[in-house]
Amino acid sequence: MSFKELIDVIGISIGAGLMFVSIRRAWGMRQAVQAAGYCTLLRILMVLMTFFLLGYLFSIWAILADHINWLQAIVSQVFLFGSVFVVLTVWLAQNTTAKLRRYSQHLEDLVAERTEQLQTALREQERALSYMTQLFQEMSVACFTYDRDGVVHEWNREAERLYGYRAEEAIGRSVYDLICRPEDAPRTRQVIEEVFSGRAVRNIEWKDRTRDGEERWVLCSTFPLVDPSGAVWRAISANVDITARKQQEEIIEAQREELEAQNENLQQLTQRLAQVNAELEMMAATDAMTGLPNHRVFRQRLWREFLWSLEQDAPLSLILLDVDHFKRFNDTFGHQAGDEVLRKVAHVLLEQCGEEFFCARYGGEEFTVILPGLDATQAMGFAEQVRRAVESTPCCYQPITVSLGVASVALHTLNPESLVEEADQSLYVSKRNGRNRATHAQEAGVLITEIAPEVWQERVQNAIHDHGGYAIQQVISQIVYDHLQMTRRAKAFVAGRTPLDVPTEEGCRFRVWLEQAQQSAVPACPYLETSAECHARFHALCEQLHSQPEPQLLHQLMACGREFVRTFDDHLAGVQRAA
Ligand code: GH3
Ligand code: MG
Ligand code: MG
Repeated sequence: MSFKELIDVIGISIGAGLMFVSIRRAWGMRQAVQAAGYCTLLRILMVLMTFFLLGYLFSIWAILADHINWLQAIVSQVFLFGSVFVVLTVWLAQNTTAKLRRYSQHLEDLVAERTEQLQTALREQERALSYMTQLFQEMSVACFTYDRDGVVHEWNREAERLYGYRAEEAIGRSVYDLICRPEDAPRTRQVIEEVFSGRAVRNIEWKDRTRDGEERWVLCSTFPLVDPSGAVWRAISANVDITARKQQEEIIEAQREELEAQNENLQQLTQRLAQVNAELEMMAATDAMTGLPNHRVFRQRLWREFLWSLEQDAPLSLILLDVDHFKRFNDTFGHQAGDEVLRKVAHVLLEQCGEEFFCARYGGEEFTVILPGLDATQAMGFAEQVRRAVESTPCCYQPITVSLGVASVALHTLNPESLVEEADQSLYVSKRNGRNRATHAQEAGVLITEIAPEVWQERVQNAIHDHGGYAIQQVISQIVYDHLQMTRRAKAFVAGRTPLDVPTEEGCRFRVWLEQAQQSAVPACPYLETSAECHARFHALCEQLHSQPEPQLLHQLMACGREFVRTFDDHLAGVQRAA
């Protein structure tokens, strides 16, 4: 064998070896290539490679058997290059297959990932749907959904409970058939139109029908359910049973109306009562026959005016008037005539008094006039005027005349009762002196200047045992009058008009009361102690003023007098509390 043949054999053997290796590799990757869809190509390559392998083996045999010639050499070279081409192709295919496999793996991973994502999303969706369904079913509000025609599609448990229809009975039927009252159909239609135009309708109160035909008040809110495209797909209606509340409201409304009616009645009654009270007060204050204020009102008025007169150091006079021989009118012309005469006298008095003075029927055929601001002379002038007016009043039975007694508040006056007493005694002096005349207490000499010590003792005892009653008020009033009068006397004394007569401690009415109250240890004592201190100063000032009539001392005395009077405000309050 030549060197050239040896090189050929080695070259062809390498080619055959490479081909064998390529066939093995191609065989090894057949599954991947099949997966990639290149089966036919693989088969062709395998056949070609087998064919080339056989060619190599044949060439080796030809060289070794020395049958080779140049043509065979060319053929073997073709085989050599062909096999290089096939081997390269196999290598290329193998690389492509590897890439394809990697790409395929990538795709598989991607698909698996997406599949996982989809499955997760699906599970989430299923869970959400389940939650929504549970929520819808378990809500404590009656809920149902319906379409544009009012046909029900979902119906929860509370709706079953409220309306009495089971879900399978309600679904597929219209709300108009199920729960809507015929009279509410237009309103329901309006609500459906509103909701399907995309607006929620909230908190309508109306009545729905139940399966039993019963009507229940519900608070209804309806909302549009929108699909992904934004169109209103269905409506969901949420209904709360407010029948109990409505019934309560109806009861309350009925009660309110009843109360209003009662209130109106009450107001009418109150008005009537006020009217009756006013009438009663009027009747209680007025003498029915003459229309003048009665005796009670007279006393209240006199007590007020008396205090005012003392405090202000202003004149005050009082007239008592009695119809002369009045009995004769009754006896001669009858009681009606007597009444007529009394009315005539009352009329004259009203005319004479005007707004300025106060007249009242004292009792029987006696009248009285209070004259604030009039002193003794002026009061006598007024009394004379009245007397003449009565005398000149025409009367169809016989002329009427009256006798008058006049008294005026002076420095000696003790209290309103003593003033009345003086007027009364003056009146009887007028009677004694021939009637149809007026007499002043001063001129008649009937002034009352003292309360007998035993009378005062008795009053004090009554006051001590009468907590908060009339007796104690009477005693306090007297003490107040005494001090006011003492101040007035002191003023007159300093002005040089009258001498000042200071009562001794023993003769002082306040001391008598204080000592007796202390002895009996009544609850009023602590208040009296305060008044006592003030009274002692007042007494001392009086004595001092007696020897030194100076205005400065007078002012101190007046201030002390006011202070003393004020201590009785507390005293009275204390007495009332103790009572
Ligand atoms: P004198 O001049 O002394 O006052 O004599 P008088 O007759 O007026 O007095 P007397 O007290 O004797 O009589 C008063 C009479 O008045 C007695 C009583 O029957 C009568 N009287 C009292 N109130 C009324 C009354 O309201 N109407 C009538 N008609 N008479 C009354
Ligand atoms: Mg009389
Ligand atoms: Mg008379």
